[in-house]
Amino acid sequence: MTTNHSVPAHSYFAPVLLDWYPRHQRDLPWRHTRDPYAIWLSEVILQQTRVRQGLPYYHDFITTYPTVHDLAAASEDEVLRHWQGLGYYSRARNMHHTAQQVVREYGGQFPQTYAELLKLRGVGQYTAAAIASFAFGERVAVLDGNVYRVLARVFGITADIAAPATRKQFQQLADSLISADAPDQFNQAIMEFGAIQCTPVNPDCLFCPLQSQCFAFQHGMVNELPVKSKAKAGRTRYFHYLVLRHGDTTYLRKRTGKDIWQGLYDFALTETAAPTLPAVEVLEAVEKLGGIVAPNRVAEPTGTYRHVLSHQKVEAKFHLIWLSEPLPQEALVASGLAPFTAIEIEQLPKPILIANYLQKTGI
Ligand code: SF4
Repeated sequence: MTTNHSVPAHSYFAPVLLDWYPRHQRDLPWRHTRDPYAIWLSEVILQQTRVRQGLPYYHDFITTYPTVHDLAAASEDEVLRHWQGLGYYSRARNMHHTAQQVVREYGGQFPQTYAELLKLRGVGQYTAAAIASFAFGERVAVLDGNVYRVLARVFGITADIAAPATRKQFQQLADSLISADAPDQFNQAIMEFGAIQCTPVNPDCLFCPLQSQCFAFQHGMVNELPVKSKAKAGRTRYFHYLVLRHGDTTYLRKRTGKDIWQGLYDFALTETAAPTLPAVEVLEAVEKLGGIVAPNRVAEPTGTYRHVLSHQKVEAKFHLIWLSEPLPQEALVASGLAPFTAIEIEQLPKPILIANYLQKTGI
């Protein structure tokens, strides 16, 4: 691979990081264990999530499901409920599936090598490298956003880190740098270094132990590296939720199919190309579902609830509607809706947007 900065074997790099790490590392619970289950759990939770946000989820999961057997035995609804608020729900479903796979195919013992770990569902190169090195001491370098940034800056790499082909270059470099004696510490160190010293904005270059070797610092390119092309702007979707109520029950349905929020519960939904849904169309939609609206029991739609996902934005409005009779059985079968009391709703896994609405309205 070509870098703009060549120091034979980069021999300074690992020792500097290994010296820096014990003095600066944050005390995080998964750093006190070699249990592959706990390490895997922390890695799945922390993907695309900040440590401060992920920490309470980690505590919750490891307390509720102390072993992979406990997680495997839980229902998907229960797992999603514990995951609620973290987003990227396919991660939770994959995690649950993987726990079952580990129990079923590996007798509850995680595989011990990088190559074997990669065979688990939802376990990609990063997670496999993290578990293999942290739990089993295998010499395989992790590559996450922090590592890309540190390597790009220190070695002056200008390749686009969003391009899939770039991964190989970085992996080769990281594998050539990783310490033979302490691969686990090296991996922890480089990620932590990226997280708290060589941060995306305002890195602490002034007090950086790599300053004299850092290409970006020496060439005034700290703000230009790493190079990352921008993702395409996502589309906006307009959701109109029909919050159908009768007596002390509210109708929800479990989302199925390939769309977002699979496995979570929401209300009857009409999606439109424009932000508004005329009142007459709201009533038509209720009728189509087999509902009979009680006289004068359609509330004004709420204001817009927004939720930004990785490739799309959702703008939702909620239409609270009281029914004069419960929805008939055929309508329930056709729509997938079912009546739930407030206590039951509390236990259901829901998109955060739905949870926010329920909290605000006290349903
Ligand atoms: S000098 Fe600055 S840019 Fe270079 S490694 Fe240190 S913190 Fe990062």
